Amino acid sequence: MRLSKLPLTTFKEVPADAEIASHQLMLRAGLIRQLASGLFTWMPIGLRVLRKVEQVVREEMDRAGAMELLMPAVQPAELWQETGRWEKYGPLLLRMHDRKNREFCFGPTHEEVITDIGRQELKSYKQLPVNYYQIQTKFRDELRPRFGLMRAREFVMKDAYSFHLDQDSLDETYALMESTYQLIFKRLGLPCKSVDADSGAIGGARSCEFHVLAESGEDALAYVDGEDFAMNVELAPAAAPDEPRANATKEMQKVETPDSRSIDQVCDKLATVPSQTVKTLLVEGEKNDLIALVLRGDHSLNSSKAEKLDGVRQPLTLADAEQIESVLGAEPGFVGPVGTKIRVVADYSAAACADFVCGANENGRHLTGVNWGRDLPEPETADLRNVVTGDKSPAGGMISIARGIEVGHIFQLGDTYSKRMNARVLDKDGREQPMLMGCYGIGVSRIVAASVEQNHDEKGIVWPSRLAPFQVALLALNAKKSAEVRSFAESLYEKFTQAGIEVLFDDRDARPGVMFADADLLGIPHQVVVGDRGLGNGIVEYRQRCSGDSREMELDGIVDYITTQIDSKD
Ligand code: ATP
Ligand code: MG
Repeated sequence: MRLSKLPLTTFKEVPADAEIASHQLMLRAGLIRQLASGLFTWMPIGLRVLRKVEQVVREEMDRAGAMELLMPAVQPAELWQETGRWEKYGPLLLRMHDRKNREFCFGPTHEEVITDIGRQELKSYKQLPVNYYQIQTKFRDELRPRFGLMRAREFVMKDAYSFHLDQDSLDETYALMESTYQLIFKRLGLPCKSVDADSGAIGGARSCEFHVLAESGEDALAYVDGEDFAMNVELAPAAAPDEPRANATKEMQKVETPDSRSIDQVCDKLATVPSQTVKTLLVEGEKNDLIALVLRGDHSLNSSKAEKLDGVRQPLTLADAEQIESVLGAEPGFVGPVGTKIRVVADYSAAACADFVCGANENGRHLTGVNWGRDLPEPETADLRNVVTGDKSPAGGMISIARGIEVGHIFQLGDTYSKRMNARVLDKDGREQPMLMGCYGIGVSRIVAASVEQNHDEKGIVWPSRLAPFQVALLALNAKKSAEVRSFAESLYEKFTQAGIEVLFDDRDARPGVMFADADLLGIPHQVVVGDRGLGNGIVEYRQRCSGDSREMELDGIVDYITTQIDSKD
């Protein structure tokens, strides 16, 4: 590709609302452009990277025997009503009407559509197992689209769905997908941690996420060094404290706390610590009621756990200030579980507190010295919180927390969808059985961003060879002034192209400083610099982006040298 033909705009400045390196660098290098919140255009050079990721994913899925298809992005509401997800999926689902007022959504995922395919196409156990996949655009109306491609609203996903007669067959494909994913991430140069998302609460369903460890990761992962325990914090169980609750030693008192709404403010005012306070969060119940979830002041609510509580509305919906005030008679900063008639569910650790502080359900007031069973009934208890560093793992070790970017997720769906949508096959004995299903997702566009997070320096992106949009950046310095530079660079461009090497030819009439800066920003692994002075001495300059090393090379050796440098084995 010739840069003289591609209007490439790059920026030196960090774009204002781009918080993380990948978002900043991809905008600065002109790889993507934002259209609206969470919507991005893949510009020509960026698109080449996306295609490289797709290619690796496609090759490995094909090798694993999966069959590529392409389902519509737009899906009829009726399918989602069959599985009950039209209601349950909530505001993430972008809903729309056609001209006949029929309801549709833009697919955030494709379980319903593939199960519909399955029930039509698959009639006998003899056709199983089968694993279908697609690489396609999804839309999720994310609450907080951010970090560019990491959490976009429209994004590219590889999603695969397998159908089976029995659990053994599902286990086999699941294991094959797990090893295929390991291979894909290895080839993409992304070291991944696989995190068990298996939880007692979801019964037999097995699930595993693949995370790139990175400070900028949105997910928190709980793991124990040296132990076989790694889980997304979303699912990691927080055990009840070992010690029994301490005895009450204080009387309950109402105190004035006019400006203390947050836990920190309350602790300052009352000279106590967050672990001696409880906070009360109100969520909507299934019966248009409100439910009070009580957590220790130093703990945070785990929405996945809360959402799984019986009677709690899915998706989890926090009550707004108006609802809270009408039910508890106070603003959110002053509410508590004492004296309320609504259902109260306390996290195990909150239920183990004695002499604690909580809101008094009166504006500007809190209660101190509160004790369960004396000042208010013993609560219903549940695991509602996120684990924190130092918590005990189920095996007994101490939990540490790392940050990760979820790039893949494999899941055993079992018969959930096939039962709801009546997707059955005949078994060996001619009996109808609901099929078992697995689903396997990879965040194709998120991977591009995750790779930049892992591979950059102060000058820009440093692509691993496998993902690089081009292998070589060919810079013709001051070509306008020198016919020799022009013709030699042209001949190199020709030779590289003929050798099947992808070259970005900087044949712009630009200052050398600009050319160097752009080549570095774009992160192309090998740079070949053709200049007047070098040519006079029979040399060109070769620069390696990742090490920053540069050296002079003889004119006729450069193409062969780079060819051997490019690792085409993987
Ligand atoms: P997350 O927890 O990050 O919201 P998820 O668990 O909802 O993701 P899945 O339904 O498992 O996502 O989707 C499969 C893959 O698609 C994820 O592992 C992730 O890599 C990618 N993905 C999901 N949501 C987004 C998004 N908003 N932007 C970019 N990629 C996404
Ligand atoms: Mg997931």
